[in-house]
Amino acid sequence: MALIVQKYGGTSVATPEKVIEAARQIRAAREDGHEVVVVVSAMGGATDELLRLASAVTAHPDARELDALLCTGEAASAGLLSLALNHQGVASQSFGGAEAGIRTDHRHGRATIVQVDPRRLREELGKGTVPVVAGFQGESVLTGARTTLGRGGSDTTGVALAAALGADHCEIVTDVAGVYTADPRTVVGARRHTALLYEEMAELAVSGAKVLASDSVDYARTHGVDLKVRSNHTAIGPETWVGDGRRAGGPAAGDAWTPAGQVSPIAGVAGRSGLVRCVLRRITSDHVLCLLRELVERETEVELRRYGNFGTEDAGDIALTLPEASVDEMRELLADADRGIRLDEAHWTSNLARLSVVGLGIGRRPYAPLRLLEALRAVGAARTDLHVTSNKLSVLTGRSDLAEATQIVHDTFVSEPALPRIHPAGPDHTGRTWSPTVEREHLDVAVPALAAAE
Ligand code: ASP
Ligand code: MG
Repeated sequence: MALIVQKYGGTSVATPEKVIEAARQIRAAREDGHEVVVVVSAMGGATDELLRLASAVTAHPDARELDALLCTGEAASAGLLSLALNHQGVASQSFGGAEAGIRTDHRHGRATIVQVDPRRLREELGKGTVPVVAGFQGESVLTGARTTLGRGGSDTTGVALAAALGADHCEIVTDVAGVYTADPRTVVGARRHTALLYEEMAELAVSGAKVLASDSVDYARTHGVDLKVRSNHTAIGPETWVGDGRRAGGPAAGDAWTPAGQVSPIAGVAGRSGLVRCVLRRITSDHVLCLLRELVERETEVELRRYGNFGTEDAGDIALTLPEASVDEMRELLADADRGIRLDEAHWTSNLARLSVVGLGIGRRPYAPLRLLEALRAVGAARTDLHVTSNKLSVLTGRSDLAEATQIVHDTFVSEPALPRIHPAGPDHTGRTWSPTVEREHLDVAVPALAAAE
């Protein structure tokens, strides 16, 4: 008998039928003798709808009230799932984040979990009840107000509860059967991993892979929580284990496991769109420090990509990448004349996307950036700001180029050319037909482009 935390994502509770199916899977786990704590997201699309409602009444919603509103999405699905469980004869009770002992800092909309008190949940488990916890939310230790953990935050709730309860593992139940080398819903030939290391998963998540929120992977890694990502269609079937390599690959402790890095250097290809690039030229180092200080104080989401003095003057260039949502704030900051940054030196490029190839040690293979740039050129995709780190290559491309660029880069680094691209399951939203992915025990095929170059 194990203690398992099961987190059901928005697509897994999107309709009453899916809620009933989720309840059935939870009941099956109970019948197998496991203790189960459930974490649930808002029903698919519900959070977006709440955000839309908020923007219909105000352009500048108060952060505390917006959180109060958003928390209701998960509260509703938790109540609904508990009702379905009770109906199936499983004793269950729903809990808000605060009731479940999730305490956070006070940053509304992007709070961090600082403490978890699992006593209340343990009590329920002791009674044989299945607690269903509303994900994505907690209570500020400072103000007592309800807070939310940022988009996708229910994953983090699941991991945090698994850590606090000492659960065997945390199951992430979603609409795909694990973690793939690219989004299997849009990329032809994407393959499921049976096991991935935290490092690989963390890079994929920050690069835009939507299967797990990046905070949740960091949390899992620091607390040693094994993650099992599986489909909501069936509880027994293909899955991906994410862990430190001790056990990922299967539930049996002590299993032999080959780190993915020795099997294939490629963990996957992921993209993030809605980015804007801002290059400031010839600004003095005093002004750079002043600008960075302001950005930190305002908690503006922006990435410093490059800074340096590439000429002989006492002034350097700085390149920043930011999400569209941060642009107004950044422009305001630059417009403040006191900072001495001349606006005519700011160069903006919008409608960008970042495409990343993740793999342990990929940045140490000299041919990898070459392959990436060649592939992008072959399809005429924009490419700038190539960035190489030990485990990742990333490049900025056009938002409209992202889909095609992702496919060609995936073909180059991951797919076997001989991989059948048939079994069309019908056109997806991009109009491309896609095939059910090829399941493999391990991603143990040669990576043709890399193998050829070695
Ligand atoms: N419902 C929230 C969101 O859409 C949190 C989650 O689903 O994890 O971001
Ligand atoms: Mg999610």
